[in-house]
This record gives sequence, structure tokens and C-alpha cells, in this order.
Amino acid sequence: MFANVSEISAYVVCPRLCYFRMRDKIKPREINAVKEIYLSRRKGFDENWAFERFSQMFDDEELFKVALENFKFDRSLERLKPVDWEIRLKSEKIKLKGILDELVEYRDRKFPLVLSLRSPKDDVWFRDRIKLAAFCMLLKANGVNCERGFVYHCFDGKLRAVEIGRKDRYYVLKLIERVLRLKRGFVPEKTRNSKICEKCDYVEVCSSKPSTFASKFL
Ligand code: SF4
Repeated sequence: MFANVSEISAYVVCPRLCYFRMRDKIKPREINAVKEIYLSRRKGFDENWAFERFSQMFDDEELFKVALENFKFDRSLERLKPVDWEIRLKSEKIKLKGILDELVEYRDRKFPLVLSLRSPKDDVWFRDRIKLAAFCMLLKANGVNCERGFVYHCFDGKLRAVEIGRKDRYYVLKLIERVLRLKRGFVPEKTRNSKICEKCDYVEVCSSKPSTFASKFL
């Protein structure tokens, strides 16, 4: 059994959200649209191509349109040379797998780049730091040494570099354990940060009894 990088970053936001997303993967989110727009731009294709790709997977033209209106492509990205995109990575040793948005080259070294929507005032969101740490670990397991990565925030055009340390990697391992526990059927507590719940797609089902929603996603 493997944990997925997107699952561990969802767990950081709310363990129960991670539980729901694990069982209900079809719903498109802004990040799905933004990813297609970014990848198409970086590969030299236009937004029609991005929409073509998006619409093969999801049926939500409005969501794509809104993402396209908000998307910003900043020139700082030109400093990073794309090496490859959507790379499937896996490590049996740490029971982790994931699809890396982009592998980039900067000053003759390779680094992971992940996409996010809006940036915090400084630095990056913890969930994105964890994502990068996880991809650094996966890249290392696949022969690419890196202790640094980039987050590109597609709705405000901010590119930020992140140094990955021991603590980040240790935290990734703890999260893998927790995510694997959810895969075995454990129903986690709700987040204590009720502000997150205001925008959550699962707010209704989440307020029902665990025995009810556990069967809903079977
Ligand atoms: S409603 Fe709140 S507690 Fe429930 S899954 Fe969403 S964010 Fe988590």
C-alpha cells in the first residue's frame, strides 16, 4: 500500500478532508484547471489546448474559465528550464508515490516545482512545503539529489524557492503513516480550524455520523 503526495498534503489541511478526497476523486478543483493551463504554457501550447486536456478529464467549463481569468504567468519562470512534466515517481522504501508537476533545471541542477493557487504573505503554505519535501524524497529515491524546490503560485504569479530540511522529511514520514491508516479505514477527527470548513466541499457530509459517511463512499 502506498500513500500519495496529494493525500499527505490534503492531510496537512484537514485529516478528514484527506479521508473524503481519497474516496471521492472525481470532482474537479481549481488546481486541476490551473495545472492544465500552466503545463500547456510551459510546453508551448495555448489555452485551447489546456481546455482540451482539462475537458477530457472533467466536465466543468465554468471552473476552467474562472481559472483562466485568474491565471498569471510570471517572467520569473523563464529562469527555470523545464526538464520534464507530470513525472510519475514511486518509492517502495518509503511507501510513497506521486506525480510531480514539473522538474526544472536551475544553475545546472535539477529541482521539483509544484503548483499552488495563491501565496501567503511570506514563504509558502505548509502543505506546499510538505509536498516539495515529499517530491525531494521521491526524486532522491530515483537518483536525483535535491534539497530545494520551487512553488509557483498561479493566481498571483509568485515563484518561491524552498529549502527542505530534516524536519520536513521526518514530517513526511509521519504523514505517510497517518495516510496509510486512513486507507485501512480509520475515520479521522475534524480539523480544529473551523475556518477551513467554510469553503469545504464536504461540509454537509462531514456533519453527519461517521458510520453514515463511511458507507457513502464505499
Ligand atoms: S468540513 Fe471541515 S472538518 Fe470536515 S472535511 Fe471539510 S475541512 Fe475537514
